[in-house]
Amino acid sequence: MEKMDRNDPLEMALEQVDIAAERLRLSPGMVGKLKSRQQEITVQFPVKMDGDEIRIFTGYRVQHNDIRGPYKGGIRYHPDVSLNEVRALAMWMTWKSAVVNIPFGGAKGGVICDPKTMSATELEHLTRRYTWQISSMIGPERDIPAPDVNTNPQVMAWIMDTYSTMKNRTVPAVVTGKPLELGGSVGRHEATGKGVFITGAEAAAHLGLSLEGARVVVQGAGNVGGIAAKFFQDAGAKIIAISDSTRGIYNEKGLNMDEVFVCKSRYKCLIGEQLKAEEITNAELLELDCDILVPSALEGQITGENADRIKARIIVEGANGPTTPEADRILYDRGVFIVPDILANAGGVTVSYFEWVQNLQNLLWSEEEISEKLTSILKRSFREVLDISEREKVDMRTGALMLGIKRVADATRFRGFYP
Ligand code: NAD
Repeated sequence: MEKMDRNDPLEMALEQVDIAAERLRLSPGMVGKLKSRQQEITVQFPVKMDGDEIRIFTGYRVQHNDIRGPYKGGIRYHPDVSLNEVRALAMWMTWKSAVVNIPFGGAKGGVICDPKTMSATELEHLTRRYTWQISSMIGPERDIPAPDVNTNPQVMAWIMDTYSTMKNRTVPAVVTGKPLELGGSVGRHEATGKGVFITGAEAAAHLGLSLEGARVVVQGAGNVGGIAAKFFQDAGAKIIAISDSTRGIYNEKGLNMDEVFVCKSRYKCLIGEQLKAEEITNAELLELDCDILVPSALEGQITGENADRIKARIIVEGANGPTTPEADRILYDRGVFIVPDILANAGGVTVSYFEWVQNLQNLLWSEEEISEKLTSILKRSFREVLDISEREKVDMRTGALMLGIKRVADATRFRGFYP
């Protein structure tokens, strides 16, 4: 038998389905359906680089499940993108949409590349060619991409323009996370980080922890982690450490997030000296003594190897899949409260849904409307997951998976199996 890699994201995602399916007493046939992917594509394509050199890139689009609505999921640009990673991320999108009860399924895309070493023109060429290669799979009623690691509103604009050019009409609803000028929604850029804060604040309130002066550690100073950190700071918490892919910075007295953003945009990395902070590694950062830990970078950061040394009382998962099932068990036994990814970072897909609805109906909602709807959906979902976890005496991840997977299984039963 092939040896299972405990830190492989797909193995993690499949093990999570087994844990929830057992509790839900789903039939083996249903479990098989839920674990399988409906479609996936691997594409290899040439890109003309600056200086006329041609390079071949590999990309993926995985469509896990569209039982409850069109496929939905971001596109990641990263040197370590793999098919199994994209498959896991696609599956997590299905459960996430179902946890917050919005009518989307789950998909994900990725391209193996290192955007940090590429010019804007090269990234545009890569994006347009990748979009063309997956164009038969995507569409406003079929599969709607969004930003993920190293992709942003500009990349979404190129996808929208390429798809629209191919269709001879403007199709804003083919992607979400677009610039406001192209039908993007107010509130989308900060939605995921804001959702991490909202669900983290719910967890703190549940445990009787005041955010005033709470010590927060954030891994990943990007769209999700950076914005979540700012929300926590504005609520009175102290951001004592934050990191990017190069290093972490730590100051027990608290960092100023506005200065962190200035440093990131000026030097493209975090510099301890500029920010009056000590430089630490990402591994050290995860193990700092703190109240709330917010992993917001990549999968597989908290594992069976370091879970024993995590000192946080609450972990709010901004990233997808940062904690392995083995670490989950260790942390649950130690009484660490985890707000799982499919709940904690669901603010992004929720406001993506608002963006898509506005695009299809040519509406423009106000920031207040978006914020009110987002807050109410996330607070309701947090409560639903907490109720299940208390009733079933399971951790919050299993509660969230049970909620999401049950909704997908119920919808599958109603639709039946064609033919
Ligand atoms: P991003 O590219 O904006 O930021 C990622 C950050 O993580 C960067 O600061 C980067 O330097 C850092 N990073 C990368 N590798 C690292 C490492 N090994 N150790 C520490 N830091 C590292 O990406 P993002 O959109 O903020 O996504 C972060 C996570 O949140 C991913 O897991 C993504 O799937 C998830 N997520 C994103 C969204 C969204 O709307 N953008 C929604 C839901 C979930």
